[in-house]
Amino acid sequence: MAVLKRGFCVKCQGDERLRIFNVNKTAEVCYCPHCTNPMPPKDAIENYRELISHHLKRASKYLFETTEYLLAYQTFAHVIDLDDSVKAAFYGRLLALVHLSTLRTSKINFAFQMHRQEMRIFHAAEICVEYYHFLVLLLDALDNYENRMKKRLTVRGVFYDTDCVSLYLQRLDEIRSYKDFILSEAEYFIDIKSNNNDDSFQEIVERVTQNDQEYEKLFKEDYYTANGFAYKFVSFGQNNVPSIAIDSKAQRQKFRFIKPTSLYPKDNKKSKIKDQIYLNNLALSRLVAASIPVAIVLLLIAIGDIIGAIFIPNNAVKIIFYVMAAAVVSISLLLFILHFLWKNRLRRTYYNGTNPFIFK
Ligand SMILES: [Zn+2]
Repeated sequence: MAVLKRGFCVKCQGDERLRIFNVNKTAEVCYCPHCTNPMPPKDAIENYRELISHHLKRASKYLFETTEYLLAYQTFAHVIDLDDSVKAAFYGRLLALVHLSTLRTSKINFAFQMHRQEMRIFHAAEICVEYYHFLVLLLDALDNYENRMKKRLTVRGVFYDTDCVSLYLQRLDEIRSYKDFILSEAEYFIDIKSNNNDDSFQEIVERVTQNDQEYEKLFKEDYYTANGFAYKFVSFGQNNVPSIAIDSKAQRQKFRFIKPTSLYPKDNKKSKIKDQIYLNNLALSRLVAASIPVAIVLLLIAIGDIIGAIFIPNNAVKIIFYVMAAAVVSISLLLFILHFLWKNRLRRTYYNGTNPFIFK
């Protein structure tokens, strides 16, 4: 039996890495190597758990609530730096990396390569429920990217120009490659017959297989651009950049409704396509965070209003005070309800019964 555990000292300040040390669980007392203060091993171990949990909670908040993806990435990476046995931090780092993608700058391939290098970390049967849940979130994120990208690059199904068609096909290929890898991960767990979660991984296999058939079609389709010509995918060139060519068999069409918009504006007459793909909820999440204190203040105002009304002899003024109190109470209740709905939506979307981003 290993009796060595990780401990953390909260009696000193400074670099967290220097305050983490190995603790003998059965010893009477242990000492921080940084400040040499003594403490019971139980406390040191508990402090360590709290430290990692705290960082993971903060990182999940950045990733899912405030959508500060770079901070999320850095915080998960910091946890890995402290302790490379925390699987939750590896999940989070990959998911945050995907979310750092914009329309013009994709991190999908980078995340895919990183995931492939790290996959052994995830191949333990005891964490397969969390891993499954993480893979589903990853697939959702890739689908989100795909849908929003298409919205940015097209208007009523027509692409703005050939740059848009090329970029679309290039990203589709990146997404397809990553999804195929996710499929192979799901198959790994089905093959080793980990009895915890067989059916769920089967769901992933079915989902990606269906996606693959759709991509097959997408690479054969005609893509119209605003100039009225239809383009077809030809092949992948250097650095996986797709080449496209006019489909001469397709009828030329006239699109009058398209405003001149482009991916890389070469002249000032065209407006530039928005780069952001993933949600930016920072302002909304700040409002939600403020909603509870605001609701409480409003309730106090309403109570003051009602007390004031009791001492007013004039009935008409009294009624006005009551109406005002009722209005303030309703706004306050509405804020409470909004807060609850928002938190509930986050839980349903991201945690769905299993939260892969907590310290175990
Ligand atoms: Zn210390």
